[in-house]
Amino acid sequence: MRPLTYSRAVDVQDAIALATANPASAFLAGGTTEVDLIRAGISHSEHLVDVNELPLRGVEDLPDGGLHIGALARMSDVARTPSVVERYPAISRALLLGASEQLRNMASLGGNLRQRTRCAYLRDGVSPCNKREPGSGCAALDGFNRGHAILGTSEHCIATNPSDQNVALMALDAVIHIEGVKGSRAVPIAEFYVVPGSMPERETVLEPGDLITYVTLPKLSVGAKSCYLKLRDRASYEFALASAAVVMKHDGSRIEFIRIAMGGVGTKPWRSMDAEKALTGKAPTVANFHAAAEAALRGAKPQSQNGFKVELAKRCLVHAMNQVRQSA
Ligand code: SF4
Repeated sequence: MRPLTYSRAVDVQDAIALATANPASAFLAGGTTEVDLIRAGISHSEHLVDVNELPLRGVEDLPDGGLHIGALARMSDVARTPSVVERYPAISRALLLGASEQLRNMASLGGNLRQRTRCAYLRDGVSPCNKREPGSGCAALDGFNRGHAILGTSEHCIATNPSDQNVALMALDAVIHIEGVKGSRAVPIAEFYVVPGSMPERETVLEPGDLITYVTLPKLSVGAKSCYLKLRDRASYEFALASAAVVMKHDGSRIEFIRIAMGGVGTKPWRSMDAEKALTGKAPTVANFHAAAEAALRGAKPQSQNGFKVELAKRCLVHAMNQVRQSA
């Protein structure tokens, strides 16, 4: 047991000031990740800044047709918001397929964006792990790596980003709004996550003291549809082995707009520009979907136990594209 101090922020600037006053601080929202990491000795936070009183829970339509989602909005609340269900069903579906009902009632959108990998070697606290202890090695490379990543890996880390929500946000071109010591900034989700490279301890572009305040989604063009498909070992409370979020607009003979992101296979929520390029302007046929899936997985580097993910991810993508095509 180690001592923790706690304070409750009254507004966003107060939260940032409290967090920067002690470099070993963490924000506390739903607590479903941070508290686990502290208990396991993975997070070295000594001070928790509770941000639950901040007015960041709203989910609101924007005048330009987009959507604003507060960082403290709970997963279950976002999933059931009519605007999300009707206009961005990929997000609603991804949220409802994540975690368990109890966790979804607590976990926040912002916390989910910061969710850390579920690699067992990171969380056991003793195995070599470059993410937990830079330079110590990666036990997964020669260990149990069935659930690990096949895209975006490095010789230093092969852990997946475990979130469902973030895959859907990636396909929907979400923008993440951040307040920090240097002021406000808006980061497109495609630039928010970083691949491990030689610094797997760094997972996002967030700096110490940065607080995610809300996310915006751009308006989808009329007729665009989206879906999220998740494949996993059991039907609930399980992370994806492969998942796909697809946003598509087509007129039956030509795909006008397509966004494709994958989960369960990448070291970050994996947007596939190659697959999008392969489909834009083409007919929405199963043959073209297969060609796009091939393009999406072309750079895959399987480990000793997860070669099956290459084919699984391709099939997941093709099924998801078919689902969207039929719903349009
Ligand atoms: Fe650590 Fe990454 Fe290796 Fe897992 S895959 S043991 S998180 S370095």
